[in-house]
Amino acid sequence: MVTVSFVIGANASGKTYFINKHFADKDVDIHNIYDYQQKAYDEAGLAAEISRSAQFRCLLKAQEMHLDAIIESVNVGRDVVVEQTFFKAKRRISYIDKICEVSDARIEIYVMCPSDERWQMNIDERELKRSLETLKKDQDEIEFPNPAEGFDAIYKVIDDDIELHMEPPNEEIVIRARKDLSEEKEKVRSEDEEKAKRKELLESMNTRPFWHYCEVCGKKEFITDEDAFNSGWDYPPRTGHFRMLGPRTCGKCMLKDTLYYKVNTEKKVPLPVVVEELLTPEERITWQRIKKEPESLLEET
Ligand SMILES: [Zn+2]
Repeated sequence: MVTVSFVIGANASGKTYFINKHFADKDVDIHNIYDYQQKAYDEAGLAAEISRSAQFRCLLKAQEMHLDAIIESVNVGRDVVVEQTFFKAKRRISYIDKICEVSDARIEIYVMCPSDERWQMNIDERELKRSLETLKKDQDEIEFPNPAEGFDAIYKVIDDDIELHMEPPNEEIVIRARKDLSEEKEKVRSEDEEKAKRKELLESMNTRPFWHYCEVCGKKEFITDEDAFNSGWDYPPRTGHFRMLGPRTCGKCMLKDTLYYKVNTEKKVPLPVVVEELLTPEERITWQRIKKEPESLLEET
């Protein structure tokens, strides 16, 4: 029977050291989540500053690749050692479910619980910028594994001691984790749908007729981008971008009378930004409309 051993714990808690000490000389496949996270970030080509949502997707992608690698090993009858942070039961359950689908593997988990001295030593050795206190706070976030999650054995690793630590099975943990997982899935799905809808809408703005409002003379026309361009309008998507300040003028009106021009030339504030309190009522309407583009151009107002 194949054995899958998870090794979990906070940063610098000694996971890699433990794996090297107990498994490196054995005939096992070792899959470390960090390798896959790096891969996911590289593939996404994301810069250092990324949104939380993009980051979350990268982590999900990394888990997917990591799990695929584990399943591949299990499928060919290899024992597997898995290095993961795995703080939450829901993350562990998504792995365990998949492993149980394809095999009757024995699943065990080792939770790193180092003494302060050992942990501090690890931090110093790696010259980490984080303090022991902050790492311990991370560790507090760990939901300690419960047999109900599907583990055959759960161990606490305190420095060089390995203790079996099986709490009574608690089905509540599993129920809650599954609920969290399905909510998370639904959230990702609806965000994707929202994004696809928006992309479709933006693409349609190149060809569909929509309301063009001249911010200077108040003229409005329900025309396509092409027609607007041909009759002299300065309007996105051809000129400037939706939701960004720029001229919104018909063929007869001048740039110098636009909100865009005013904001960029009147140095009332250090930067050319819109200060709503300084706007006239008409300018405020223009600015509100710009901020809600392209949706604000679909219906006549
Ligand atoms: Zn005009």
